[in-house]
Amino acid sequence: MSVRELVVLGTASQVPTRHRNHNGYLLRWDGQGLLFDPGEGTQRQMLRAGVAAHDINRICITHFHGDHSLGLAGVIQRINLDRVPHPVTAHYPASGERFFDRLRYATAYRETVRIAQRPVAEDGELDRSKSYLLEARRLSHPVESYGYRLIEPDTRRMLPDRLAARGIAGPDIGRLQRAGELNGVTLDEVSEFRPGQRFAFVMDTRLCEGVHALAEGVDMLVIESTFLDEDVQLAEDHGHLTAGQAARVAAEAKVRHLVLTHFSQRYADPDEFARQARAAGFAGELTIARDLLRVPLPKRR
Ligand SMILES: [Zn+2]
Repeated sequence: MSVRELVVLGTASQVPTRHRNHNGYLLRWDGQGLLFDPGEGTQRQMLRAGVAAHDINRICITHFHGDHSLGLAGVIQRINLDRVPHPVTAHYPASGERFFDRLRYATAYRETVRIAQRPVAEDGELDRSKSYLLEARRLSHPVESYGYRLIEPDTRRMLPDRLAARGIAGPDIGRLQRAGELNGVTLDEVSEFRPGQRFAFVMDTRLCEGVHALAEGVDMLVIESTFLDEDVQLAEDHGHLTAGQAARVAAEAKVRHLVLTHFSQRYADPDEFARQARAAGFAGELTIARDLLRVPLPKRR
């Protein structure tokens, strides 16, 4: 059985606190690992969470503020130290190329792993693998910021019993799949539709078109809620979201599992984020992220 889960490595915006590391998230998606926004201290959080350098196939950076990228230097050196046997692909805003290069080559070390730098310069598809398509959308923050979304293609599962009952076998199965119909038997009668799963990662942005587009219909949305609703003006000024804003987006987009994170150190009670998210009308599964939490993707529809 393939594993799809979010491993939360850190949840603090701007500065770490006694209970929260800088940001960091690993998404396990079947055999692949995608590391999002590794802030300072991510290497040690990986150790505490049971995530190895070998687990990372792809790195996605939303923007080059320290709480989303300072961990790159350590993580990249660890990938090389451990001689990870596969190449690693890194995505980040193209305007921050110099920051990525500096973090990648922050100190001397021996390079043993191919790291492919694939900067993001516009909205759209970045890559495709067997089990997902990865796309990026521009967000609205004082520095260039992109959110990411994984889309698993929809598929159809052929049902052997029904095929047998209608006498369809061998090469006829392929013919039916291609044509959608064979000798009066339709594809719907002998197969079931299996919608692909979707995951979105939205960090450091005020409300904008990109936020809504990324959240649309996803099974899991990981989204920043730096502020509580009473500080909505601060959020707007600094290019952030409140708990209520993030939850309203999720409710409108029919998100199944909402993960709020990237909390300002000014708030002592995490439960208040949950109260405001519910008050904003989000009725699905809700997680207020804590460091080292593992959150499974919701069961398939
Ligand atoms: Zn941040």
